Amino acid sequence: MSRAAIGVDLGGSHVMAALVEDTGEIHAKFERDIEDRTPNAVVGALADVVKSAIGATKHDVVGIGIGSPGNIDPASGTIRYSPNFGWQNVTLGARVRDVFPKYEVFVGNDARCATLGEYVHGVGQGTQDFVLLTLGTGIGGGIVANGVLALGHQMGAGEIGHHTIRPDGGFICGCGKIGCFEAQASGTGLLRHAFRIAPSFPRSGLLDPQPAKGPDDERAWRDRLGSKKIRKAAQAGDGHALAAWNAFCDDLALGLSNVIAFVNPEIIALGGGVSSAGDFLLDRVKPLVEVRTTMVPRGTTRIVRATLGNDAGAVGAATAAMRGGLIAQLPPAVPA
Ligand SMILES: [Zn+2]
Repeated sequence: MSRAAIGVDLGGSHVMAALVEDTGEIHAKFERDIEDRTPNAVVGALADVVKSAIGATKHDVVGIGIGSPGNIDPASGTIRYSPNFGWQNVTLGARVRDVFPKYEVFVGNDARCATLGEYVHGVGQGTQDFVLLTLGTGIGGGIVANGVLALGHQMGAGEIGHHTIRPDGGFICGCGKIGCFEAQASGTGLLRHAFRIAPSFPRSGLLDPQPAKGPDDERAWRDRLGSKKIRKAAQAGDGHALAAWNAFCDDLALGLSNVIAFVNPEIIALGGGVSSAGDFLLDRVKPLVEVRTTMVPRGTTRIVRATLGNDAGAVGAATAAMRGGLIAQLPPAVPA
C-alpha cells in the first residue's frame, strides 16, 4: 500500500472513518450513528471508528483528518461554532489528540474537506478553478481558485449556502436570515417550495397526509416526506411536484449564476441527494444559468455531477491530513 491517512466525516447524526490511500482510494470504512451530541459522546464515537480504521491496516498511517460542520480554528482544531451540534469553542482537535497521541490530527470544515476531495480525486481533477456544491438538507460548498482551496481570513470562505438570493419573500434559513441559497435550493428548499405552492394544487396528493397546523408541525412533516418524493414525482410528471421543482431550479440557477460571477470556475460540481436527479436537474438548470450569466463568457463553466458521493468528505479530510492540514497548502505569507 502507498501512503495512507484516516479521513473522518463527522455529521450531526453520523460519523464515518475511512482508511484512505494517497490515490484517493478508500481501503476500509467504519461508521457509527450519533445520538448524543455532547462533546464527550461525539469524541467517543469518533474515536471508536478511527481506532477500527487504524486497526484495519498494518501500514503506516500518516495522520488523522477530520471534516466537521462549523467554523473551525485551523491551528488547534477547535470548533468555534457549529449549529449542527449546538457547540461553541469545543476543543475537538485537542480531545482527539489526547486519544491518539501518536498521530497528527487536523480538523477542517466538512464542506471544505469534501471540496478538496472532489478537487484532488474526483471530478475537479485537472482544473484550476473549481466549485463543489452539495445539495442535501442544506447546501455545503467550497471554492478552489487558481489551484488553491479558498479558506478565507477566518476560515469562512465557501459559505455559499448562506449568500442571500431571495431577500423578499424567501424562506427563513437555519442561520436566521431570509432567502439564503441553502433555504431556497437545498433538498429542504425543494420541499418548502412544494409546501408554499400547495394551496394552488388543492387536489394534489403529493403532501399527504395533512399535518396539524403550525410551523413546527410542518417541519416534522417535511422531514418525514423527504425531498426525494418530490423529485421522483416531478420526474413522473406530477403537476404540483413539477411546479415546485421549477421554482427550486430557478433558485438553484440564480445562486449558480452568482457563483460564476464570484469565482468564474471551470467546473461547478453538484453533489448531495438532489443531484441524483442527473440530467433531469442539469437540463433544466443549465439554460437558466446561461441567461443569468452576463459579464463572464457564457457557457464556459461546466455544471456537472460530483463523482465521489458521500465519500468526498472523508477522502478530502484524509487528503488534508496527508498534506499537513488545510492551511498547509497555502503559500507562505509575504513579510510586511
Ligand atoms: Zn443561511
